[in-house]
Amino acid sequence: MKKPKRRMKKFKRRSSTPFHVMLVPTLGCPSNCSYCWSSEEGSPIMSIETIEEVVKWIKNFRDDPVTFTFHGGEPLLAGADFYRKALPLLAEGLSHLKPSFALQTNLWKMTPEIAQILAEYDIPIGSSIDGPKELNDRQRGVGYFEKTMRGYEIARANGLTVRFICTFTSYSVKFKEDIFNFFLKNGLTLKLHPALPSIRSETPEKWALDPKEYGELLIYLLDKYLENIGKIEVMNIDHLCRCVFTHRGSVCTFVDCMDGVFAVGPDGSIYPCYRFVGMPEYVMGNVYDHPSQDDLARSDAWKLMHQFKEYVDRECGECPYINFCRGGCPYNAIAPTGGEIKGVDPHCTAYKMIFGEITDRLNRELSESPGMGMAMPPLQSEPDAGAKPGIMSLMFKRS
Ligand code: SF4
Ligand code: SF4
Repeated sequence: MKKPKRRMKKFKRRSSTPFHVMLVPTLGCPSNCSYCWSSEEGSPIMSIETIEEVVKWIKNFRDDPVTFTFHGGEPLLAGADFYRKALPLLAEGLSHLKPSFALQTNLWKMTPEIAQILAEYDIPIGSSIDGPKELNDRQRGVGYFEKTMRGYEIARANGLTVRFICTFTSYSVKFKEDIFNFFLKNGLTLKLHPALPSIRSETPEKWALDPKEYGELLIYLLDKYLENIGKIEVMNIDHLCRCVFTHRGSVCTFVDCMDGVFAVGPDGSIYPCYRFVGMPEYVMGNVYDHPSQDDLARSDAWKLMHQFKEYVDRECGECPYINFCRGGCPYNAIAPTGGEIKGVDPHCTAYKMIFGEITDRLNRELSESPGMGMAMPPLQSEPDAGAKPGIMSLMFKRS
């Protein structure tokens, strides 16, 4: 198949203050995963006029390179025509901000036509699969696996890169070895996501992954990753090790996301993150009004996010991991309590377990390696080639 001409070379990301705008063209989704509560039947589709207003809003909003992620619901429900018009509007209208793009989809609606349009802009695709077919379909619904894999083949045939998020639930965590081996055997990059308690179900904890089990899962994956170094990429473990090594968070969960991340819903409403889209109490403004940062800062949702930041400074002040954890995800902390700040991210237990494990192992490796003290130095000398791979080997591999 003829590969599409790529237009995005000149839109490479610069390193600067992160500025991430998630565009949610619809909250609708053709799938019906058991543990997902974030889709809405009959949700409208974002119009091209709204994209034009996004361009006008962002043009003078701030002066940092911007990443747009199309999210949902299921963003491909917006159709080929939407992306054919939206992508050049954003790329050319905001060329001074060097926009880059990403898209998160279950791939069911992927067609060669859409794939060609996305490939022109070199758009990395994130999708979702929870492991082998039987296990996946048990929690995501019968037929999900096949439909996603069909879309995956179309995406790959058109030169798109696809990475999968694997949601671990209270059920699937019992099969963690099968799941890891599935990703390893199929040469797929693994990014995991713990199922959260539902905010719309009468049995909110049914699928949710207990924080201690999540911590144990992360430690298990750390071991499996080190055993299979060079054969698979486990993105979360890379991020967590990098956090400890550099003392800085590198994904939104482990930074103060409140000033750098925004989401736009189908009607142009602006929220702090895609996870809040569709919850009216978290609307900060609307793209049709072209609000400034100061305008958004007057909204209750903005103030709540910043109250969370101050809360973390107080509550996590004694935690050795505060610099690169920052209390975890504010959505996880705030949404289940109806907008009241009663604690940090409930996954704190898991974060302490994995950060502690990585810190201990790293200190041990450093103390056993000749000429190195207990502090965390920059990567200078490669670990002994005969030694069992450890955190330092991983950091060298990924640096
Ligand atoms: S609310 Fe959570 S998921 Fe959303 S940007 Fe912040 S850390 Fe990330
Ligand atoms: S590990 Fe827990 S206590 Fe420490 S910074 Fe993260 S959320 Fe706060």
